[in-house]
Amino acid sequence: MELKGTAASAGIGIGRVTVVEEPDLSYTSRTVEDTAAENERLNAAISGYIAYTNAQADTMREQVGEKEAEILTGHIVMISDPFMQGEMTKLIEGGTCAEDALVQICEMFATMFESTGDELTMQRATDVRDVKTGVLAELLNKRPVDIGGLPQDTIIVTHDLTPSMTAGIRPGVIAGVVTETGGLTSHSAILARAMELPAVLSVPAACTSLKDGDLLIVDGSNGIVTVEPDEAAIAAAREAQAAYAAEKAELAKFVGCRSVTADGVVIELFANIGKPEDATQAMEKDAEGIGLFRTEFLFMDKPTVPTEDEQFEAYKKAALICKGKPVIIRTLDIGGDKDVPSLGMEPEENPFLGFRAIRYCLAREDLYRTQLRALLRASAFGDIRIMVPLVTCVDELTAVKDLLKRYMIEFDQEGIAYNPDIMVGIMVETPASAIMADALAAEADFFSIGTNDLTGYTMCADRGNEKVRYLYSTYNPAVLRSIKRVIEEGNKAGILVGMCGEAAADPLLIPLWISFGLGEYSVSATSVLATRKQVSLWTKEDADALASKVMQLNTAAEIYEVLKEAAR
Ligand code: PEP
Ligand code: MG
Repeated sequence: MELKGTAASAGIGIGRVTVVEEPDLSYTSRTVEDTAAENERLNAAISGYIAYTNAQADTMREQVGEKEAEILTGHIVMISDPFMQGEMTKLIEGGTCAEDALVQICEMFATMFESTGDELTMQRATDVRDVKTGVLAELLNKRPVDIGGLPQDTIIVTHDLTPSMTAGIRPGVIAGVVTETGGLTSHSAILARAMELPAVLSVPAACTSLKDGDLLIVDGSNGIVTVEPDEAAIAAAREAQAAYAAEKAELAKFVGCRSVTADGVVIELFANIGKPEDATQAMEKDAEGIGLFRTEFLFMDKPTVPTEDEQFEAYKKAALICKGKPVIIRTLDIGGDKDVPSLGMEPEENPFLGFRAIRYCLAREDLYRTQLRALLRASAFGDIRIMVPLVTCVDELTAVKDLLKRYMIEFDQEGIAYNPDIMVGIMVETPASAIMADALAAEADFFSIGTNDLTGYTMCADRGNEKVRYLYSTYNPAVLRSIKRVIEEGNKAGILVGMCGEAAADPLLIPLWISFGLGEYSVSATSVLATRKQVSLWTKEDADALASKVMQLNTAAEIYEVLKEAAR
């Protein structure tokens, strides 16, 4: 039998199932009279939870890394939030028992995160519920099962792989993970990838349809779980495992190499990040800089808007981790499918064509000033570059540059250090900016092509809408012509042209980017080495020959076929 889910972490695991259930945390609600004592109980449980989680974070730090440990310390930050604790205390003072106060407030936050409809903010709901379960276990004296004790070659099957569960995983012992929930950007997925643990997520009813001791093949590269495979399937899986290991070893050879085509055209290979700490993995994977830091995550993670100092610390941290390498930081890109609960944005009829990104920021100068000042201050600590999202006309870029000039004067008066020559570039991700590329190139210090949005806006097809998925493809000639033009105009003006959408790492499209003259590729940290390898397989001449063939075709399907045929 085969089950299908999300291919969240590549690799193939073969092993026997242990279904990891949450401990029974049922309790009876009570009305309390001694509210001071009840509050004490809650505080003691919170302290116990913090101590336990800190210890888990230490293990995680040792076994996996700092970034992953920070997910757990993030839980400590969450439960230490004075607002959250204050709300619980208020309930207890009204006679609510500690368990109810905890559950009600955590659920209130979880529902708020979920109601955003935004995948990334919705993941925060998992974190709040993880915190709730942890503190409730302390209140009820029922700590969860220790995953560290599971036998060799175990496949963990669980509703949701929470960061606190992951802390117990010993690398080399757990062969794979299957969950019922979680998407590509969930913490489960991030953690599984960081631990290089094959994982298939969002397999419906996995916890009920699979049972302890079942033999499984978890194919995290293709999102397939094979239950009770026969001999032939196991043999094939072992072969695929060996091929995967060989591919990894092959990629490891590209660490420390230059990013260059077979005939010596040098490109810059950067990584995309969502949090400053992600820069550590990017550097470990040998990225030559950061090509896109999506700052909206700093805003989406919190119940309040981050202050100038908080943002400054985050940007400075990324700059310091990158030790002088370029760090392209994109200013707040919210709206569309990205909601920031603390900003209370109004729902819109057509959010992707509405009050999004630079449009919102220019109308909220108070908010934008905080971010631009934080970026300028951090620019004293590394090669920080500012990138403006969703630009459609030259005026937007001019407005940002004017604001920056104004804040520089403020800093000169305040005696605060910054880089007066900081580069200011734009994301080219709208048809308007692609058409105006020549004019924008005269004003921008660099371009970065956002193929995710450029594809959607060019084809008028929402990337999240299944019904128009057939149109949402970067292989469409309209999108490719647009990208070609943007690269040519940028190169003509002598500015660096990069790409930070998913297509930058697409092995089939890379020869086209080489032919068009793309100067910088920004990909996920885990794709850096594979991209370096792909680039190394092509000469400019071969790439040009393929591109001239492809650019005469009129359909995405034909283009895909030709590129697939030519793939190396
Ligand atoms: C893009 O649109 O290609 C891009 C990189 O931005 P985001 O995916 O964050 O919209
Ligand atoms: Mg975009």
